[in-house]
Amino acid sequence: MNLSDHRVLQPFWDLIKIGHEDILSSPLFPPVYALTIDYLWALVFIVIDLYCADWPYFKKHKIQKNKVVTGTLIWQSLRLEIKNQILYILPMALVQLVWVPATVLPKEAPAVMELCGQVLLYFLIFDAVYFFFHLANHKIRFLYRWCHSVHHEFSSPFAVTAQHLHPFELFFVGGIITTLPWIMDTHPLTYWVWFFVAQSVSYEVHTGYDFPFALHHFVPFYSGAPAHDMHHLRPLTCFQPWLNYLDRLFGYHVSYEDLLKMRKEQAERYGRYEEETVQDLKKFN
Ligand SMILES: [Zn+2]
Ligand SMILES: [Zn+2]
Repeated sequence: MNLSDHRVLQPFWDLIKIGHEDILSSPLFPPVYALTIDYLWALVFIVIDLYCADWPYFKKHKIQKNKVVTGTLIWQSLRLEIKNQILYILPMALVQLVWVPATVLPKEAPAVMELCGQVLLYFLIFDAVYFFFHLANHKIRFLYRWCHSVHHEFSSPFAVTAQHLHPFELFFVGGIITTLPWIMDTHPLTYWVWFFVAQSVSYEVHTGYDFPFALHHFVPFYSGAPAHDMHHLRPLTCFQPWLNYLDRLFGYHVSYEDLLKMRKEQAERYGRYEEETVQDLKKFN
């Protein structure tokens, strides 16, 4: 199989394209597709959190074992997500319908190498850009209190909280994910795979579970759910969203094992904010 040949993916591309051109080329397709991925992952983990959390398998792999995900907590997060979608995403999608031309669907599929290479490049760029945005949001008190503290209303994350964001952060994140593929000629199929990867990884790091099949057990410098869970528990640690080489470089990477090794008083304080930074901010768990 020649991975730089577009014919490898051609049958798949033809299968999803032929007969669905009107839907796939509509400017409304990307937002609807993105929301579908959101709600699919949310639904899978709502079922796990509400109905399977007592199963030995899930109990064993839950990271913050003392925290229970309740229907009330899920609703608190979903409510903000739905509000953001109605107030910001929907009007943006409608504006796109008027202003953005229909997506051109090429006859040929992208080559596997081209698709994987571009998705990897966008992954690495997003991860690094978000690290610095995220760091600024935690180090500049005004930014934290006004914007990013919304995401930290949950100190024990669960999948739905992946989208628990202040509208400014939602625009920033959505803006980068949407515009990164503009830096080079990107096939629509590559664009949609990138959307799927970016959203799925964001959900994965928020699940609250350290599953034995998760990528961080196999891929070096991949941070995964334990690192992001640590970030919600101790907000001044683990800023990089998907990988951890920048956190390691700047000294922000800390694991649960590291916390356990610290003296009791040090572990108690480590990675927490001073009271004046967080006073009066909302907390759900
Ligand atoms: Zn988070
Ligand atoms: Zn944060």
